[in-house]
Amino acid sequence: MPPVVDLLRQRVPGLRVLDESSEMEPFRYDETAYLTAGVPLAVCFPRSTDEVRSIVRLAAETGTPIVARGAGTGLSGGAVAIDGAITVAFGQMASILEIDTANLTATVQPGVINAELNRAVAAHNLLYPPDPASFEMCTIGGNLAENSGGLRCVKYGVTRDWVLGLEVVLADGSVIRTGGKNKKDVAGYDLTGWFVGSEGTLGLITEATLRLLPLPPPKLTMLAFFGSVRDAGRAVALITAAGLQPVTLELMDAFTIAAVDDVHQLGLDRAAGAMLMVESDVAGAAADAELAGAEEACLTAGATSTLRAADATEADWLRQARRAAHGSLERAGVARMDDVGVTRSRVPEMIEEIERVSARQGLPIAVFGHAGDGNLHPNYIVSRDDPDAERKIDAARDEIYRAALKLGGTVTGEHGTGLAKKPWLVLQRGERAVEVMRAIKQALDPDGLLNPGKVL
Ligand SMILES: Cc1cc2nc3c(=O)[nH]c(=O)nc-3n(C[C@H](O)[C@H](O)[C@H](O)COP(=O)(O)OP(=O)(O)OC[C@H]3O[C@@H](n4cnc5c(N)ncnc54)[C@H](O)[C@@H]3O)c2cc1C
Repeated sequence: MPPVVDLLRQRVPGLRVLDESSEMEPFRYDETAYLTAGVPLAVCFPRSTDEVRSIVRLAAETGTPIVARGAGTGLSGGAVAIDGAITVAFGQMASILEIDTANLTATVQPGVINAELNRAVAAHNLLYPPDPASFEMCTIGGNLAENSGGLRCVKYGVTRDWVLGLEVVLADGSVIRTGGKNKKDVAGYDLTGWFVGSEGTLGLITEATLRLLPLPPPKLTMLAFFGSVRDAGRAVALITAAGLQPVTLELMDAFTIAAVDDVHQLGLDRAAGAMLMVESDVAGAAADAELAGAEEACLTAGATSTLRAADATEADWLRQARRAAHGSLERAGVARMDDVGVTRSRVPEMIEEIERVSARQGLPIAVFGHAGDGNLHPNYIVSRDDPDAERKIDAARDEIYRAALKLGGTVTGEHGTGLAKKPWLVLQRGERAVEVMRAIKQALDPDGLLNPGKVL
């Protein structure tokens, strides 16, 4: 039989296929450069579901594994290349197929960039709410496969909550649809839910029908500074208990405030121990009232100062600075971003645990995250030439995950399991639950060709 790459070119005429190692290099890693990446057999860029089907059929015939890839911004190693596998990159399946204003849906190919979808639907006064901080780079396919969250998710929920149906190419090359535009549809098992968050291990998503929302009014933005993260955590609990529903409720610790201010020169209170960013997107005077309520909660919790963005441009700067927090931390050395979650009332305890781990390991750990969701991003800061860096990070990670589990939390709130969290999956879910996951994988991908070794 001719080599698989030759067959690929024969069976899918015109398919862009890379098989030189220098060409494939940019497609070997995601944002987890610390994980070992394999060398793929080829990287290919299908243009249609039919082409994906042909690639998967060939892979099934030849026993070749497949790694699905969006933009490679993942933080769990899901898109990291596997030796001898075909990486299927969805960058050329990037069309918005339909925006249905009568039914408030968008039907898209998986390679559409999140921000591009939002720009397109905004022209119809609509919004697709899930907005990872990487929204200008990441794809809808990656968002679906990771069940990604973002800054608006405290009010609107995560990717899963906005999916009505998917088209999926299964491991044998067959194509299924798991739902469509119907708002209510409970026929059979919820297959959509199986694929959302499956990290390319159960099927390749080739189309998605997503729910949209009428575009909310422009946001009002407030910052509150606190002496400690504990006080900021109390404010989150008080804002929630007051029945307020801010669209953004983000936290930064002192380390992150200083790093962001160094880069963006925003005049943040660098003496503060923590900062909350609170935003409201309700209409008219109600937004002002919502922020006034949040301000009262912050002051009750011990906020040392609060301020409102003067106008939309200033609010935009503040939001961009929050989205770029990880990049700002990288000026201090290597900042490896992690992801844990607890119920929001336990955010202060989780942060104190992280501080204890930092002291024990002698490892600076900056924390920011989606405090309103209880979802925190500890960032391990190491100098580029520290020979002991990996050992310290590994020890800190293990302690932090175990602390999150002890608090009833999760080892990953939104970045996924991939390779990075695999060793802790059984610890969190239990052996029997992981056996059920293995049974699902076995039913859908009996030869283990889809992203093998990831998640399970
Ligand atoms: C600076 C920064 C900020 C971030 N902020 C957030 C945040 O706020 N919230 C959040 O949740 N995440 C965040 N992330 C993580 C990341 O951006 C998300 O996980 C994103 O959804 C990944 O999308 P991608 O297109 O880059 O996917 P990739 O990294 O290419 O792939 C991710 C996974 O999806 C699978 N996959 C991709 N396409 C398909 C497909 N069509 N079918 C089946 N499987 C597929 C891959 O195999 C892999 O397992 C951030 C990352 C960075 C670098």
